[in-house]
Amino acid sequence: MSKPQPSTTPWYKTGNPVPRTRKTVAVIGAGISGCTVAAALKKRGFEVTVIDRHDHAGAEASGNPEGIVYPKLSPRDDLLPRVNLAAIQFASDYYKPFWDSGLGRHCGVLVVPENDKARSDFKLISQRYADQTEMVETIAHEQLEALSGVPLKAESALHFPKLGWLPPQLICKQLLELNNIPLVQANIQSLEYSDKQRDWQLRDVDQQLVIESETVIIASAFDCKKFSQTAYLPLRKIRGQITQMPCTAESSKMKMVICGECYITPAENGLHGCGATYNKDLFTTELRDIDHQTNLAQIAATDAGLAAVLGQPSKESLTGRANFRCTTSDYLPIAGPVPDRAAMLEDYAILRRDAKMPMTTPGAYLPNLYVNCGMGSRGLSYAPLTAELLAAKIAGETPALSEELCQAMHPVRFLIRDLKRNRI
Ligand SMILES: Cc1cc2nc3c(=O)[nH]c(=O)nc-3n(C[C@H](O)[C@H](O)[C@H](O)COP(=O)(O)OP(=O)(O)OC[C@H]3O[C@@H](n4cnc5c(N)ncnc54)[C@H](O)[C@@H]3O)c2cc1C
Repeated sequence: MSKPQPSTTPWYKTGNPVPRTRKTVAVIGAGISGCTVAAALKKRGFEVTVIDRHDHAGAEASGNPEGIVYPKLSPRDDLLPRVNLAAIQFASDYYKPFWDSGLGRHCGVLVVPENDKARSDFKLISQRYADQTEMVETIAHEQLEALSGVPLKAESALHFPKLGWLPPQLICKQLLELNNIPLVQANIQSLEYSDKQRDWQLRDVDQQLVIESETVIIASAFDCKKFSQTAYLPLRKIRGQITQMPCTAESSKMKMVICGECYITPAENGLHGCGATYNKDLFTTELRDIDHQTNLAQIAATDAGLAAVLGQPSKESLTGRANFRCTTSDYLPIAGPVPDRAAMLEDYAILRRDAKMPMTTPGAYLPNLYVNCGMGSRGLSYAPLTAELLAAKIAGETPALSEELCQAMHPVRFLIRDLKRNRI
């Protein structure tokens, strides 16, 4: 027998898998992260229940009237743009049936550069992705008005013809309804593993047992921090407010989503959606006038031609919605099995002293417990892909994404990073 070779990344392998005997899965959270993964598992024959503290899906971050399937490409070959490209490619096919059924619009997304740095980056991006013009193409100033429907001032822009906008709350609702997935209303306070029953017991704030399930997926956004198993994740809660404003005769000609400092959607029922603001230290969902003004200022900073066609909407005509993004320290989502933090810290303690030490010990993971969160400002782009990866992993399939990109989103990455930096 050959000796096990020391690996630099054995922590991605599960050393202690607990075999699955039943096909029951409980998903905590009925936002886009929870609903996509619930649907992906249901399609694979699992018996899935979604639990949320609200009585309907898409009640928190995923409750905006519109969300953009956003790109985030870069001239550099970094993990973030690579994950983003894989995600938007997957998402554009995933949402096609929803678009075809009349939800949102498969109208394309136009990104205009907001400053000189973005202008030079865009040139490099179009060179980098020159062989993927079906995904992204550069549009010169002369063609911008014909394409977008509005007389933009930008000298050029990046066009993503396969993307568009969707109403996230309706998508969440449909994912559950179309797949016959029950939604149980409960505010889950704790998860405890029963070795005897080999399942997770989910209890609410009154310590009442809500559900027992062999497999659990925590998709509760920032509130993943509430559970002892996922409290270590470096998540941040960032408030955002969108503004809805009436269209004008000129702005109603807008044909696609336009992004720059902010995004703005083509008019729907006489309203444009625009957003969003970023507030790190504000924890209210009350709408604020100042944030509507910030959104209007961001439109002006995006493109003077765009601002001109929208005119000056009165304060009274503005509506909107505010909620919270859940972001990660590296801006990548988190999708995968939940590590047994205490065991990992012990097994890999040596990394504190020697970050390059080759190891053979595989990772220790909590039995059949997974997490899907940290979608930041791009939940609509990332969730279909992370859901597919998780469902494939749980079903024992090989995920259709490179190992490197799966690892970039793996929940264990923060533990290993901190150990290597001797921070924990
Ligand atoms: C203003 C604003 C604008 C945005 N615009 C865009 C956009 O244009 N495009 C885009 O892709 N993204 C956008 N985003 C980000 C996007 O909304 C999020 O990435 C996405 O909705 C996150 O989905 P989620 O399912 O992870 O979280 P959520 O939608 O917040 O879902 C988490 C769910 O878990 C439930 N929950 C939490 N704790 C518990 C518990 N203990 N027990 C039971 N249930 C629990 C909550 O009730 C909630 O329903 C925007 C966000 C904001 C705030």
